[in-house]
Amino acid sequence: MLVPHSMSGKQVGILGLGLSGMAAARALDAAGATCWMHDDGRPAPAGLPAHAQSVPWQDWPWDRLDDMVISPGIPHDHPTPHPAAARASDAGVGIISEIELAMRAAPQARLVAVTGTNGKSTTTALIGHCLRKAGMAVSVGGNIGDAACNLQDPGPDGVIVLELSSYQLETTPSLHAEVVLLLNITPDHLERHGGMDGYVAAKARILSALPPHGLAVFGEDHGPVGRLAAEFVAAGGRGITVGADDLPAEAGLSPALAGPHNAVNAAAAVACLRHLGADAADIAGGLADFVGLPHRMQHVAQHKGVAFINDSKATNGVAAACALAAFDSIYWIAGGEAKADGLGPAAAATQKVERAYLIGSAAADFATELTGLVPVSLSGDLESATHAAFADASTATGAAGKATILLAPAAASFDQFDSFVARGDAFSAIARQIAATGSGAGGAHA
Ligand code: ADP
Repeated sequence: MLVPHSMSGKQVGILGLGLSGMAAARALDAAGATCWMHDDGRPAPAGLPAHAQSVPWQDWPWDRLDDMVISPGIPHDHPTPHPAAARASDAGVGIISEIELAMRAAPQARLVAVTGTNGKSTTTALIGHCLRKAGMAVSVGGNIGDAACNLQDPGPDGVIVLELSSYQLETTPSLHAEVVLLLNITPDHLERHGGMDGYVAAKARILSALPPHGLAVFGEDHGPVGRLAAEFVAAGGRGITVGADDLPAEAGLSPALAGPHNAVNAAAAVACLRHLGADAADIAGGLADFVGLPHRMQHVAQHKGVAFINDSKATNGVAAACALAAFDSIYWIAGGEAKADGLGPAAAATQKVERAYLIGSAAADFATELTGLVPVSLSGDLESATHAAFADASTATGAAGKATILLAPAAASFDQFDSFVARGDAFSAIARQIAATGSGAGGAHA
């Protein structure tokens, strides 16, 4: 655990009792702070730390609070602040993330921070994998896996790799890192940032985490990241921009890194790993045997020449467009709760799509966007869509065929599922059942 000893004796509110809120409570308790905890939607779990109590936020001792730790899922600013966040601002109480506590714990390890609209988790996990391969002590967490405060400090010879969301960047003023990666910025979560300018500003905060000798790695981009990179370098910062062509010529990428977008992620990881002193052979080995993460371009089943790919994490049009570029002969399952730009660039990336199977509340609008581009089926739900896609794919390809059923929704999951994980798990279960029983019945074309 990373213990923020400087918080000893402090009074801290914790808003949101999810993974990060509970990790914050344990770390603060270990530091000797007192915690006041509240969640709108769930009761406090059993076994709160000794110096933490569950009390409605209205009854917190606001005049004595030093800070309030806010869950990344709760708005502190846009579209409207949670009332406890508004109260904190009025009372002059600092609104901080759980990551901020980990920074205040001042780990001895070298730090790497990764952000971007898409590719954060993949790149973070890949860096961690290659560092382990190189025999270095490493802890990986933040917005992926373990909360930052739950990580072990791997010591002065080790590395902590943190994935950071825009919300976490806004509330982590003490962030510091030896290497930061800013992969890409495309419109997403705009309601939480008051628009694109606010979103870009939140992402750009990662650059202020660097000391003078630190390295910023930028993904190649003609939009906001390109502009930030140019400004950063013009101001004397040490920054490099990487594209898919910057991968070492001999690099063989694991199938989990399919697609041009993952080549950029891998190139960014390589730049970071070189800076940290990892050996070229270990980097190459890590790129080759990286197994990937669930719900990101994950091959979950294969039957009759048809591959089932779970990219449930493609919750926006940019990510879905990248997935569509990575396969041929695609039977595409899309839909859910649409983002502001609908299918976005995914609509124009459909050259290799045989048919789209649309689900969820976005289905009718997505069908309109795809008119004249690809045939569509209004499948309604994931089960019907997957069965219909398999029936079509297996018929079209025959015994020697090669086709891909791709779940890349270009939409959030919340209209039909609790999360992108639940959606991806449901797809994987259906796919494996089809592979086991050979059943492709069900679903109808609209
Ligand atoms: P994040 O943690 O930023 O959401 P993930 O690694 O979990 O990123 O990937 C999320 C989705 O974005 C996946 O569908 C993945 O295929 C896609 N993706 C990954 N890297 C990129 C990239 N560099 N550009 C666009 N899309 C990407």
